[in-house]
Amino acid sequence: MFDICNEDELIAFGYRIGQALEAGHVLVLTGDLGAGKTTLTKGIAKGLGIDQMIKSPTYTIVREYEGRLPLYHLDVYRIGNDPDSIDLDEFLYGNGVTVIEWGHLLGADFTNDYMEVVIETKDVGRRVSLVPKGKRSNQLKEVISHG
Ligand code: ADP
Ligand code: MG
Repeated sequence: MFDICNEDELIAFGYRIGQALEAGHVLVLTGDLGAGKTTLTKGIAKGLGIDQMIKSPTYTIVREYEGRLPLYHLDVYRIGNDPDSIDLDEFLYGNGVTVIEWGHLLGADFTNDYMEVVIETKDVGRRVSLVPKGKRSNQLKEVISHG
């Protein structure tokens, strides 16, 4: 569990995640509207060496960026439990990393290895938990937690 005081700290935490990511990693970002899913993704992008501005993919569903690895940034809120409306495999099995806001709406089995990043809103700040599902995500959690 990581306690985050402000937006800059959340971006710094994302940066650490971004540096640890390897091709094929999948992150599911869980948290209420305004919790900081897109803000965390801005940090992840920085950690991947992406200079472009990260914009919320709420209306486009997917945005792609080029860095050390390609970043596929998805927000599946609007397609909810109809994952067939996009070709997820194109991203999950591409050569980049996939970050999915509201990804839990796709169901627990949309892919066999992913890391859920849960962002809870506290009175002041946020609490972030890493919940790995699968071997690769367990290893990723180790790297993020212990460097
Ligand atoms: P989401 O993508 O989860 O809907 P966003 O990242 O778009 O959330 O928005 C988070 C909002 O919360 C931003 O406007 C940000 O300025 C604000 N905020 C306030 N405190 C924090 C904090 N500790 N960490 C992250 N964001 C914060
Ligand atoms: Mg968002």
